[in-house]
Parts: sequence; structure tokens; C-alpha cells
Amino acid sequence: MQWLLLIPLLLALLWLLGNYTFWMAPRPRRLPRLLMYHDTSDGPGSGMNIAPDRLMTQIQWMKNKGHRFVKVSELLDRESENCVAITLDDGFASNYRELFPRLRKENIPCTIYLAPHIEGIDRLTPEQISEMQASGLVEFGAHTLHHINLKNCSDEQARQEINDSKQAVAALSGAPCNSFSYPFGRFEERHAEMVRAAGFTSAVTVKKAILPITDPFRLPRIGINGAANRLQFHLAFTRGRYKL
Ligand SMILES: [Zn+2]
Repeated sequence: MQWLLLIPLLLALLWLLGNYTFWMAPRPRRLPRLLMYHDTSDGPGSGMNIAPDRLMTQIQWMKNKGHRFVKVSELLDRESENCVAITLDDGFASNYRELFPRLRKENIPCTIYLAPHIEGIDRLTPEQISEMQASGLVEFGAHTLHHINLKNCSDEQARQEINDSKQAVAALSGAPCNSFSYPFGRFEERHAEMVRAAGFTSAVTVKKAILPITDPFRLPRIGINGAANRLQFHLAFTRGRYKL
């Protein structure tokens, strides 16, 4: 009957292997990492929120490992060895209130993707956007006007959302808007083509991976869950995949 004791042990092992991907080979250090966040307010961590101090702890850890921080568009125009791009989607006011003072103190750049007409969130104000832009630390990208799923739109509507968000974000920040983020990570080949035709130079997805940059309109990003513990973050950062 002793073999019965092995069953819980085996289940525990399966759980561990499924939840902690340390069995995957680490990706080469030199490959760029794009990390995706959203809201950065104090409060419980989730897929949509990370406490600002927890994010700063992650930044410190990456810094100690010798990684450099760049804006997304800088990943394309320079040698991006060991580079990390911190990206924040949707344009939460907490990015200004809670995160920006901390980033400024540590001189860490980031890229924020704005959907200027998004509903239901506490949005960044035009004044906050101007101030962050003026610091030189923040790059603003576009995330459509209304945060729509491009796959549910007519081509005409999709093109308009992509083009108009580029103009609207440039008007808000007072700087060229060069990078795009597909809302919900949903898009098809034709949308990537519309983004390129609109004059963007890059676009980010939600494909969890760490890859060489071969297609600037399909940059993978690792979404970091605000509830991830240190080990889970380490695995996400080194393997590109983790479960939470
Ligand atoms: Zn979004």
C-alpha cells in the first residue's frame, strides 16, 4: 500500500512543474525583454494591477543583473543587448501618480500606450501626459482611440482607430507617436499592415516570449501579473513564460 503515498507526491510534482517553468531553458541574456503592465496603484496585485513598490523591486533586480532600460522605439534603433522595455497599456492615472515619481528618481524610461477615449478607468490627464513627455523618460504610443478589438471591426473602422489614435496621442504628448499596441493583443495580418501604413515603426503584442527582433510589428511582450512572487517573476524574465 506504500505506493499510494506516491500519488500526492506525484501530484505535487506535476503542480510544481506546471506552475514554475524552471524546467524550460533560460533565454539568452542579450535578447530584449518587453514587459507589460497596466494599472500601478497600491492595492492587490492582479493581471491588471501591480503595486508600484513591487514593480520598482523588479526593476532593481533587473538592474542588478546588468540589464539596461529603454523605450520601445529605442529597441529598434540601437544595439539592444541586455535591454528591457517597461510598457504600460491603457493610460492609467496611477502611472503618473504612483509610478512616475519613482521612475524619475531612478532614471528609468518607459513606454505608455494610450487609448485616448477609453472608458471606465481613471485616465491620465493631458497635463500629466505633457509633464511625463517633458521629462524625456516617457514615450507615448497608441492603443486605438476607444480600446477596441480590431478583429471585431470593419476594415474601415480599424484603419480609422489606428490612424486617429496616432494623431490624438501625438497631439496629447506634443511628440511623434511611433509605437502601437494591439488592444487585447487581438489582430490579424491586415491590421499589422494598417499599423505599418499609418507610419508607426513598431507594434507590441501579448505573445509571451523572448525573441530576437525580426518583425517590429509583432514584438512579443511578457505580461507581468501583479500577484507574481519573486520566483515567478524571475521565471517570466528568464524563460518568457510562466503561469499564474
Ligand atoms: Zn489595453
